[in-house]
Amino acid sequence: MPRARVPFAAGRLWLDFVNTDEAPRHAHADTLVSFDGYLAWLESAALIDAARRTSLQRRAQEQPASATAALHEARRIRSMLRPLAERGLLTSERATQAAILEINRVLGRSTGIRRVEHDPRDGSFQRAFVPSGDAFAALVIPIVESAADTLVMGELARVRRCAAEPPCPRVFLDISRNGRRRWCDMRSCGNRAKAARHRVTTRVSRPTPPVP
Ligand SMILES: [Zn+2]
Repeated sequence: MPRARVPFAAGRLWLDFVNTDEAPRHAHADTLVSFDGYLAWLESAALIDAARRTSLQRRAQEQPASATAALHEARRIRSMLRPLAERGLLTSERATQAAILEINRVLGRSTGIRRVEHDPRDGSFQRAFVPSGDAFAALVIPIVESAADTLVMGELARVRRCAAEPPCPRVFLDISRNGRRRWCDMRSCGNRAKAARHRVTTRVSRPTPPVP
């Protein structure tokens, strides 16, 4: 079974979903290259559990055309969400409308049961959505809802792309107090940028050799 390799560091589900599109940057393939890869990501995002993943895999073998259609739809939605995530409020009106159209198409057909769940381990409460209808098509609903929430809550101004050089395609929600988070991840891009700055500083402060 393929395992999803993309970390969940973007701060919002839909942004982590956009970040699954990493193929051009890294040697490994895009997470959404197969329906199995899509299921693996959904499981690592805790949107489905292992038992559900197995049953969906079985169903995908019986209905390969529907599974492929769901995968293609997920990829199309991701490509519509990326411009929104990269440019935030500066996204062109056309790209914004395209993303909203895609979001509304999914929300419009989502039927299911909404409920509140209580986790006695930490006392937390979660909203849950149990979809009814097409099981494959429903998989993308929580992702799209997360994007809709960002728009409605006015968070889009804090959504941006990693500032690393060479360019890193990852996007994230900046929830830092001063709103100045620049990197997708401190451990990778943040550290690289710090090391590069350090190299520049040491080069500048090194004393000029005496003229012979
Ligand atoms: Zn980065």
